[in-house]
Formats: sequence, C-alpha cells, structure tokens
Amino acid sequence: MSKALKGIIKIECKIRVLTGLHIGGSKENVEIGGIDNIVIKVPVLKLDEAIERDVPYIPGSSIKGKMRALLEWVEKPEGSMQVIALENKGEPCNCGRCRVCKLFGAHKNAKTEEPVRLRVEDFYPTEKTIDMWKKFLDGDFVEVKVENTIDRIKGTALHPRHQERVIPFSEFTGFIKIRVHEGDRKELFDTIIRGIQLLEDDYLGGSGSRGYGKVKFIKEKILWTDYRKQPFEEKTVDENEIANIYGA
Ligand SMILES: [Zn+2]
Repeated sequence: MSKALKGIIKIECKIRVLTGLHIGGSKENVEIGGIDNIVIKVPVLKLDEAIERDVPYIPGSSIKGKMRALLEWVEKPEGSMQVIALENKGEPCNCGRCRVCKLFGAHKNAKTEEPVRLRVEDFYPTEKTIDMWKKFLDGDFVEVKVENTIDRIKGTALHPRHQERVIPFSEFTGFIKIRVHEGDRKELFDTIIRGIQLLEDDYLGGSGSRGYGKVKFIKEKILWTDYRKQPFEEKTVDENEIANIYGA
C-alpha cells in the first residue's frame, strides 16, 4: 500500500574520476578508421558559447544500474537468507518490499506496488574540468588510449584498438535524489550511502578489470524539501539530521 510523499532528500555530489573513465557512446557518427570505442557525450551542451563540441557526461542510468547490481550482492530480498544476486540467479529483485525494490523499483512481475524512491540525474562536467580539458588535451575533451593485445610467442602487439577515455581528475556534478514516503525508514538512505561506497570500491563504465573507472563521490551538500509545508520548504541538512527526517 503506497503512502503519502513527505518530501525529497537531494544529495548534491561531485564525481571525481581517479583513473580513465570509459562509458561507451554510440558509434553512429564515427568515420571508418576512426576511434573504435568512443565515450558517451551530450550533443552540444550549450553551457557557454565557448563549448562548440559534444562533451562527455555520466548518464544517471549508468550510476543507478551499477549501484543496483552491486547492492544486490549484499542486500537480501524480504524473508530470504541469501543475497539477491544468488537468490534470483542474476535477475534483479522483484519482491517489491526489500530496500532495493523500494529504492530502484521492482523488476517485472512485482508482487507489490511500491513507488520508486531513487532518482539519479545525469552528471555534467564542471566548468573547471572543461577548462582543464581544453588546456591539457589539445582542444579535445577526451584522451585516446591505444589498447593492444600481445602476441605471446612473438612478443609483439596485435590489433591495436583506440579507446576514448575521460582523463583522471575530471569532475562531474549532479544530484542523487531520494523521495521519502510516510512510513519509510532511514535504512533506505543508508542503503544509498552503501551503494556509493560499493561503487567507489568497484568501477564505473567499461574496462574496470584493466584499471578504468575508479571514481570518488564527494558529497557537497544535502538538501531536504518538506512537501507537507505550504509553501514547500527546502533547507540544507547535515547527515545527522536524516534520522529526524525519517522519524523514529
Ligand atoms: Zn526486492
């Protein structure tokens, strides 16, 4: 049974790229003999006049998808002794009642209807990062890394592939938002914090086993908007106040 929406917690974050980041984009506009493996970019983001080309960004869906997959290795569905990943043999949870289902939404054939609590925005590069790219990448916004496989007998490189990546120290900014319904408990917020930690210990995007995609989340501030107040009231809160928001 769904309950009224009390408000929304917005975590303003920066994602700092610590190793090269590759979130794959579409190859549609790449000429033959060009880059094999491009990174996803927003088509001409008109943040300022000086940006005339597409800029790399981090889609919210990439963050959300990875966070869910990682959490399913530590969270258990309602009434189960096993973690979701083992219980469901790789399928996302559809119990409709566990923390993962409440936050991310139940998978197909959900047994109960719960509103999806989590929203993850797309993360865009900061102005400082765009300036850094312009300065260090010769007018480009990504570096191109040549990846080789080695011929083990001859010791020579085979089939070089050209892969675009976002360079270390790039920073992207955006919001992770958690809707708070009547009766929700702080454990939902804590689950997202755990999801962030899991993601920092793992990787974002592709080629993580080759060292790509290490990121750090920097929480800039937490905002709470109370929808029970007229007009809606938004204020900055610290992490200790989250328990009060959810109530005992
Ligand atoms: Zn579930």
